[in-house]
Amino acid sequence: MKHRLKKVLMVLVAVWMVVPLFVPAAAADGTQHSLNRYFQEAATEYEVPVEVLMAVGYAESRWNDHQGKPSQSNGYGIMHLVDNPEQQTLQAASRLTGISENELKIDIKQNIRGAAAVLADIAKEQNDGQLPQELGQWYTVVAEYAGYKNDYVTKIYADEVFRLIEEGVQRKVDGETLVIHPTTVHPEKGAYQDVEIPIIGGKADAPFVRWAPAHSSNFTEANREADGNNIDTVVIHTTQGSYSGAISWFQNPSANVSAHYVIRSSDGEITQSVSTKNIAWHAGNWSYNVRSIGIEHEGYVDQPGWYTDAMYRASANLTRYLCDTFAIPRNRDRIIGHNEVPGATHTDPGPLWDWNRYMTLVNQ
Ligand SMILES: [Zn+2]
Repeated sequence: MKHRLKKVLMVLVAVWMVVPLFVPAAAADGTQHSLNRYFQEAATEYEVPVEVLMAVGYAESRWNDHQGKPSQSNGYGIMHLVDNPEQQTLQAASRLTGISENELKIDIKQNIRGAAAVLADIAKEQNDGQLPQELGQWYTVVAEYAGYKNDYVTKIYADEVFRLIEEGVQRKVDGETLVIHPTTVHPEKGAYQDVEIPIIGGKADAPFVRWAPAHSSNFTEANREADGNNIDTVVIHTTQGSYSGAISWFQNPSANVSAHYVIRSSDGEITQSVSTKNIAWHAGNWSYNVRSIGIEHEGYVDQPGWYTDAMYRASANLTRYLCDTFAIPRNRDRIIGHNEVPGATHTDPGPLWDWNRYMTLVNQ
C-alpha cells in the first residue's frame, strides 16, 4: 500500500515536471505571431509595397494591436481599421476579404491582410483599375486610407507615413525585430501638394502650434480670458490613437469630445484644436472643463514607447507658457492627469507617464 502510494506520487511528480515544459512549446506553436511574416504575406497577396503597409501600421499603432481594444475614434488593431459614422475601413476590409469584422478586429494577421486589401482597393480606384508602379504614387492612397475629412490633417498623416519610409524604423515587438529600411522616395502628393498646414503662435515665447479647429459641436464657446482669469488647471491626457487621428476625431461631429492641444510623439509637434478662451470637452467633469486647458499626448496608456523626450519637452514648454499666461501655479495641484480629475473614469496618462521628469521640465 505504502509502495503503491509512493509510485503514484512519483508519477504525479513526473507529470507535474513534464507538463510545464510541454505547455509553452505547444502554445508557441499555436499562437506565436510573426509580424514580419504577416506584413510580407499581406503585401505579396495584395501587391501593396511592404514599406507602405508597415509604415501605416507603425504610424497608427507602433505595431501594437491593443488586444482588440478600440482607439478613441473606434479603430482596431495594428492597422487601425476604423468603424465610426464618418469613416469605415473596417467594413471595407470585411467586404474585400470576406472575413468578419470581429475577426478583423482581434486577429493580428487578418487585421494586416484587411488593411492591405483596403489600400489595394483605394489604389486601383485612384488609378483606373491599376496598381501604382512607383512607391511615391502610394501617397494619395495612404491619404485616402486615413479617411479624414480635413485636407491638412490628412496631409499630416500621409507626410508622417512617408517620413517613416524615408528615414526608416526599427522596433522590437514581443521579441521580434521589425525593420523598415530607409528608402528614398519621391511622394507624388497630387492635390495635397498645395495644401497649407496653418501655423499660429511663435510670438514672444508662445510656442509654434498648428491650427486645426475642432467641430463646433465638440466644445463650448466662452470668453474665458476676458472673464478674469478663471483658467487655473492644466489636464494631461493620452490620445488612445494617433496624433492626426485625434485631431481629426475632434473635427468629427459625432465625437462629442475635444482638447485644446494635441502633441505628436515622434517630434513634439503641437496642434491646437480649441482656442483657450473656449471650453474643450476633455475632463469628463464640467467644473474641470470650465476652468482647465486640456493637452492630449499621442499614444496609448498601456503601451511603452510613445512618451518620447521630444514630446515631454514640447509639452512642458507649452504648459510653462500656459501657466505663465494664465497665472497657473506650476505644481501638481494645478497640473494634473485626467485620472486625477474627480469622478474620472479614464486612467490617462497612466503609470508610464513620468511626472517627476515632466514637472522638472515645466519648472526649468
Ligand atoms: Zn483623457
